[in-house]
Formats: sequence, C-alpha cells, structure tokens
Amino acid sequence: MSKYLGAKCKLCRREGEKLMLKGERCKTAKCAIVKKNYPPGIHGPKGRASRQSGYNMQLREKQKTKRIYNLLEKQFKLSFVRAIKQKGDAGENLLKILETRLDNVVYRLGFAESRAQARTLVNHGHFKVNNKKVNIPSFNVKVGDIVKVKDSSRTGKLFANLAEKLKKMEIPGWLNLEVKDLSAKVLHQPAKENFEMSVNAQTIVEFYSR
Ligand code: SF4
Repeated sequence: MSKYLGAKCKLCRREGEKLMLKGERCKTAKCAIVKKNYPPGIHGPKGRASRQSGYNMQLREKQKTKRIYNLLEKQFKLSFVRAIKQKGDAGENLLKILETRLDNVVYRLGFAESRAQARTLVNHGHFKVNNKKVNIPSFNVKVGDIVKVKDSSRTGKLFANLAEKLKKMEIPGWLNLEVKDLSAKVLHQPAKENFEMSVNAQTIVEFYSR
C-alpha cells in the first residue's frame, strides 16, 4: 500500500506543482510532488487530462493561488473585490494584497515554517507592526512598516533559536530583515520577481470576470 501523503499534499498534486504548504518537508525528497506528481484518485499517473480548456485553466489558477495563501473562497474573493477597486492592473493588485498580508509576511521572513503556521502565530498575538500588537492575519503591511516578534514572545520556544535559522533564509527583496531584532522593514511593494510562486493573476481576473 502506498504511503499516505497527507491532505495538504493532495492539494499540490491536484494542481501539479509545489504549493509549499508543509514547511521544511516541501524542500525535501519526501515532497509528494517529487514522489507522485499526478493527481490524487483512482486514475494514477494518467489522471491529469482535461485541464487545458479556458475555464478549467482559470479555475485551477484561482484554486492554486487560494491554496498557496491558505484562504477560503470568501476571503479570496474579498481580496479580488478590493483589487478591482484599486487603480491599476487588477491582477497585480490582487497579488500585492495577498503578498502583503501579515501572515504571508511572517512566513516569508522565516518566522514560521508555513503560511498556516504563520496565521496561527499572528492570531496568537506574537507580532507587532510599528510597535503595536496586530493579531489580524489579513492585515496588509505598507511601505515603511516595521514587523517585529513581540519581546515577550522572543524567549519562548517558538522563537528562541530562530536567529540561527534566519541567517540561512533567502528573504524577498522588498523586506529588510534584522536578524538580531527579529524585525523587518517593508522597503517597497512586492514586485513580480519577489513572489515565491509563479501565479498567472490575469487568469484569475478572467475567472471572476466571466
Ligand atoms: Fe506536500 Fe509541501 Fe510537497 Fe506540497 S510542496 S506536496 S505540501 S511536501
């Protein structure tokens, strides 16, 4: 019997690419996309067939992006509605809204292993933005903001040995991490090259514009 690879890994297999949902495991040979890169279910390796129709492609890109950022449909749609109300390209706006979420920033800085863990840590009040506690995962950081692990959280087991790990992290260029302080400044809005995963945002705009 094949080894159970977990519900999160099934989401990646459904999309046919790594969505980085399980922290360190995603970077190892244990990743289900490395081991079994075909959709879950009874069809085995031949199962990825009819995903190229326009609608299907749009749907899959939307689902993929929603899963990367660990959002429910309602939350994702709300981000899209905000994106189309802003000036400029709706797809780019959407990606910026998702990428500047506090839970995503916490993950990208290496303060959490996955976006799911980052969301829990934010909910539990471990972070400050500009010296004020913020426990809202959807909070969007702005240029100039300082995100910091709360002083009282630094000594707990969650963050105690983090500094060593952070020295090896590749931090996206729009964030400037100060390892010693467990804090980071938002230097500019995230640009296309700063995203961890490649997402075709225009396809998502087309999906919601049908
Ligand atoms: Fe599982 Fe992570 Fe690999 Fe996705 S990227 S299949 S969550 S190990």
